[in-house]
Amino acid sequence: MNIILLGPPGAGKGTQSHKLVAERGMVQLSTGDMLRAARTSGTAMGKQVAAVMDAGELVTDEVVIGLIAEQLDTNPADTSFIFDGFPRTLVQADALGALLVSKGLKLDHVIEMRIDDDALVSRITGRFTCSKCGAVYHEATKRPAKDDVCDSCGKVHGFTRRKDDNEESLRTRLLAYYRDTSPLIGYYYAKGLLARVDGLGEIDAVAAEMGEILAR
Ligand code: AMP
Repeated sequence: MNIILLGPPGAGKGTQSHKLVAERGMVQLSTGDMLRAARTSGTAMGKQVAAVMDAGELVTDEVVIGLIAEQLDTNPADTSFIFDGFPRTLVQADALGALLVSKGLKLDHVIEMRIDDDALVSRITGRFTCSKCGAVYHEATKRPAKDDVCDSCGKVHGFTRRKDDNEESLRTRLLAYYRDTSPLIGYYYAKGLLARVDGLGEIDAVAAEMGEILAR
């Protein structure tokens, strides 16, 4: 089964992806995580995209399509993929469709995570993640059991905040979402693939709603 999680920054795509990976053995393909890893390891591509990411703009279609193509080539053919943060433009959506067809794969569901913009600001500005396993936490709503220890992997002193998780970048990221990514809602609706969940709910409630969609 292959699915896309679609939604603005802070909708909970990463959190729900982590649950799906842990509970169903799916493989999360997050272009945001791949780009951040390229920056950390200091590759030429990582350096090239750094300023664009910090500003909250989209990197070029060519770069992210290349990253996804590489993952589809290297993972076993029977992998179940979660596309998280990809596609973000119509060009990327067409490219993903073509890549999947070329591998004899198909998309099963596109899940739009809906959430109102006011909730996003507090979600994003309170967010921190584990640098080792990527588990997502929040200052007010999801603190680790022990300060400074990741509940998921046990890493000590490993929490980091994303550079683009500030109000100014968030405004740009939201604009990019509405301008470039939200047309994908209609695109996948027309293909009969779109389902929606209320991203404002509790983590387990959202996961349950998603489980019902995946069982269809
Ligand atoms: P994310 O972790 O998905 O919020 O992505 C963080 C940043 O990486 C975005 O604000 C963009 O700058 C870049 N990015 C991630 N995925 C894509 C994509 N599919 N297309 C273009 N830029 C992307």
